[in-house]
Amino acid sequence: MNRYAVRIGSLLALALSCLLAQAPARADDRLALQFEGASIALTHVRTVDAVRAVAVDDPGLQELLAKVGATVTWQPGERYVLITTAEPLVVSFAVGDARYDVGPVKQTAPLAPFELNGRVYLPLEELLHAMDLALRADNGGLFVQPQLTALDVQAAAGGARLVARGGIPLDAQVSAARDDKIVITFDGVASTLPPSRSVGTGPVQRIDVRTLGTTAHPQTQVTVAFTPGTLHSAPGTDDQRDFTMAFSAPGSEPAQQIAASANPAAPAASQSVAQVTAVDTQPQNGRVIIHIAVSGNAAYEWHRLRPPDNRFWLDVHDARLAIAAIDEPGSDPVTAIRVHQQSPQVVRIALSLAGFDSVDVTPGASGVTITASGAVADEATTLRSGSGRIGAGAVAATGKPYVASNPRLIVIDPGHGGSDPGSYRGELVEKLLTLDISKRLRDILAARGWQVLLTRSDDRDVYAPNDSARDELQARDDLANRNGARAFVSVHVNAFMNAGPHGATVYYYKPSDFALAQAVDKRIAAELDLKNDGVIKNKLYVIHHADMPATLIETAFLSNPDDRALLESAQWRQQMAQAIADGIEDYAGAPPPASSESGQ
Ligand SMILES: [Zn+2]
Repeated sequence: MNRYAVRIGSLLALALSCLLAQAPARADDRLALQFEGASIALTHVRTVDAVRAVAVDDPGLQELLAKVGATVTWQPGERYVLITTAEPLVVSFAVGDARYDVGPVKQTAPLAPFELNGRVYLPLEELLHAMDLALRADNGGLFVQPQLTALDVQAAAGGARLVARGGIPLDAQVSAARDDKIVITFDGVASTLPPSRSVGTGPVQRIDVRTLGTTAHPQTQVTVAFTPGTLHSAPGTDDQRDFTMAFSAPGSEPAQQIAASANPAAPAASQSVAQVTAVDTQPQNGRVIIHIAVSGNAAYEWHRLRPPDNRFWLDVHDARLAIAAIDEPGSDPVTAIRVHQQSPQVVRIALSLAGFDSVDVTPGASGVTITASGAVADEATTLRSGSGRIGAGAVAATGKPYVASNPRLIVIDPGHGGSDPGSYRGELVEKLLTLDISKRLRDILAARGWQVLLTRSDDRDVYAPNDSARDELQARDDLANRNGARAFVSVHVNAFMNAGPHGATVYYYKPSDFALAQAVDKRIAAELDLKNDGVIKNKLYVIHHADMPATLIETAFLSNPDDRALLESAQWRQQMAQAIADGIEDYAGAPPPASSESGQ
């Protein structure tokens, strides 16, 4: 990550820091920021040694974070501040420590976060930079400028694909196209990426980047030069925040818009990796409290064996152990503690208990606490396993599992619709195929006694025509979240640049999605004669942001002739709907009876 120039109104800052040195008890400063044409007033700013810091709970900062899709997790009295970016990537600061983490990358700020009058202040420019935003002074104003921060060309079957990321959801248009190059204009973002680079991946030869526009309203033009005759897809985001565009070499199949989900093997650059940063053991009157500090969001699960086996372990998933492994004796009632990297993705905390002691697991924003007490547990009611989430998600869920307020309700989401056709080949359009399969699925589930809501029941956008992918997908999740659904099932049709890939893929993301996805996948494998790629973890927006167990099904590939013939068959679409319905019931059981006020 490149460093950037720290620009400040130097005279003003100098005057303020002198004032601060002389009168430390004075009130906070105010600072006006310009962002996307609007002014945001920070009201709790301090300048120390010419470095600006802003209070975590500053209302203006909260407003800015909300605008870029970031959330803060911090409670008064807590030392750790976690910011989850829209990426999502977890940025973690600790009071008194100039080192901070942006996902797996360690950084050092010129000023350590500090506490003053019960508030925690973070270095402002580092905080913005971590969210791919830069602070630019111009003409007496101070502008928060979103940056285009990544422009990767990846090899893909039949050609290459361009993936771009930035500080805001990217709004891109092809502003000029020729036989050997195209110009893509990203509106509202500036760039400090290299102005020119040779590529040589598939048909893509060179990329030139230049920033135009004004400080207040920048634009970045990206020129992609390629082998003459190269075909390219329309710019798209499909189910992800990232911008993607496919380029296929002359002579191969025409480029289709690639769903981000069509390439689950793409590098997980934006995958956030949590870190286990400390394990703190406190013996206390016959109890032992073990706090495991975790920076970032992570899922965990724990298990304990039946007596006489006295082992207990807790696995933190998608996490790295940032401290040395621990293997040491405990104190009563814990006889041993081991902490180690169990696998590349899992950190395991293992305890040996002295006897059949009670163990309690409580997740929080900055870690998870295990309390082992010498009290003998009631074996009949003792849980053998549990799971939950640490980090930003723990605040909302408080570690409790999701409880559907309407356990009879299943929400079905026909992918795409209206201004967004999804993939298409000839007469076959994804948005219409997903609607057809979803309606069949609705009818089957309704006949079995389920209440069913479709996110759309005709060919339209759920949020608004030509809206952003995020608004559109969030509107679909909102419907399920507001109604307290038991499960959320999104139906899609896949496409790729060439005819090779075929078959069904079932996606999950949250730990709570897995059992649903697996049940649906098993039924698809059993009931349909189709290549089955199994369940795949992928951070797809709709399943990530659904509160309840959710899955996304790519039913078959429009780009494969055999799959296309299946998709054309109404009988096959009915079988697919049947398999999905059976999978939902394998997972959820029979629908609970209608509540008594419905008139029995
Ligand atoms: Zn789709």
